[in-house]
Amino acid sequence: MLDAQSLMPGTEGINFYQADPTLEQLLKRHLSPDDYERAHPLLLRMGAVASERMDELAAIADRHGPVLRQYDRRGQRIDEIIFHPAYHELERIVYQDFAIAACTHREDALGWSGRVPQPVKFALAYLGMQAEAGVFCPVSMTDALARVLERYGDPALKQRFLPHLTALTLDELQQGAMFLTERQGGSDVGQTATVARRQTDAHKVAETEPWPQWQLWGEKWFCSNVSADLILTLARPSGAPAGTRGLGLFLVPRRLPDGRRNAYMINRLKEKLGTRSLATGEVTLEGAFAYQVGVLERGFIQMTEMINLTRLWAAIGSLAAMRRSLLEATVHTQGRIVFGRRLCDHPLMRRQLVDLLLEVEGCAALAFETTAVLERVDRYG
Ligand SMILES: Cc1cc2nc3c(=O)[nH]c(=O)nc-3n(C[C@H](O)[C@H](O)[C@H](O)COP(=O)(O)OP(=O)(O)OC[C@H]3O[C@@H](n4cnc5c(N)ncnc54)[C@H](O)[C@@H]3O)c2cc1C
Repeated sequence: MLDAQSLMPGTEGINFYQADPTLEQLLKRHLSPDDYERAHPLLLRMGAVASERMDELAAIADRHGPVLRQYDRRGQRIDEIIFHPAYHELERIVYQDFAIAACTHREDALGWSGRVPQPVKFALAYLGMQAEAGVFCPVSMTDALARVLERYGDPALKQRFLPHLTALTLDELQQGAMFLTERQGGSDVGQTATVARRQTDAHKVAETEPWPQWQLWGEKWFCSNVSADLILTLARPSGAPAGTRGLGLFLVPRRLPDGRRNAYMINRLKEKLGTRSLATGEVTLEGAFAYQVGVLERGFIQMTEMINLTRLWAAIGSLAAMRRSLLEATVHTQGRIVFGRRLCDHPLMRRQLVDLLLEVEGCAALAFETTAVLERVDRYG
């Protein structure tokens, strides 16, 4: 009688990095030999953590998704999201143990001397996302929000928020999000109906806070990481023209400087097919306090910095799902015996596997080339 592993071969215990010679080749192409040597032990460690601990945690966090608690027992609105402890442990692994959101912004993460190169960050994330994509959506937005502030935030805004977005411990960390999509405007963001009104000096929230300050009214329809600490959003200042040209860029903190909740409500969470561990919600901004980011008339252009970087993150996440599926298929067909021989030795199955392999390798080459281009832009402008 065959044991369970021989009957139904699985990927348990397989280090995702060691099982992926293509990733190793791509990194050798895009990194200096020194950087590759430095990255190697980190990748080995992530390959093991992803295939073992993160894989277990992901199964729990996906089964026990986030819950929205709108009221406390006195009937006061609180709009808190409650996550399963497995999700919080995933957060600890990605933000704290592997510094994935911070490592390309800071000079001191992961024992690296200087900033970690973009291909290394994305390779670590790629391995992690083969176990769990949900927790990486907030990571991607925290990373990308920091990039927008670095490029366009005024000094006071950077000083106040960048250390939290790029923190190396969960206690200090403030996570990012972007609330763009409205019911009438997903791709067509120029239809954004959220309005912004500038606060007068009399209403300034705190003297020490960055300025200018605004209040926002509107409805956002698809807000991932809806409980984030810091949110980038687009809104139309009164009197600004229609379309994307009239949109300003604003940073909305979850908490006001005095600790109170900011003025927005989480109406409900989305029922999603994918990224189930992650809270995505619908939000009404009810005069939410916001800081202006950069030049008011260039709001959408500045926002594309975050959209572009999160699209690369989405590409790496999709690639990770493809790679994990290929690994599952390969391991299964190499161990499973049908009609007297291994599944992978049957010609039609072999052809199917080669088709999958070619797609994964082609997409991996393109995605990691893009991470290398991003690194060149960061390094040389
Ligand atoms: C899991 C998930 C998480 C999300 N998280 C966020 C978030 O955190 N923040 C946020 O702001 N939004 C978020 N979104 C929303 C997402 O960004 C929008 O769904 C997206 O912008 C598309 O908008 P839409 O759904 O309104 O589709 P539409 O704009 O209505 O588009 C419908 C279809 O038409 C196609 N289409 C659109 N324009 C054209 C064109 N000119 N030519 C040809 N085809 C076109 C689109 O590709 C799409 O297939 C999330 C969505 C999902 C599924």
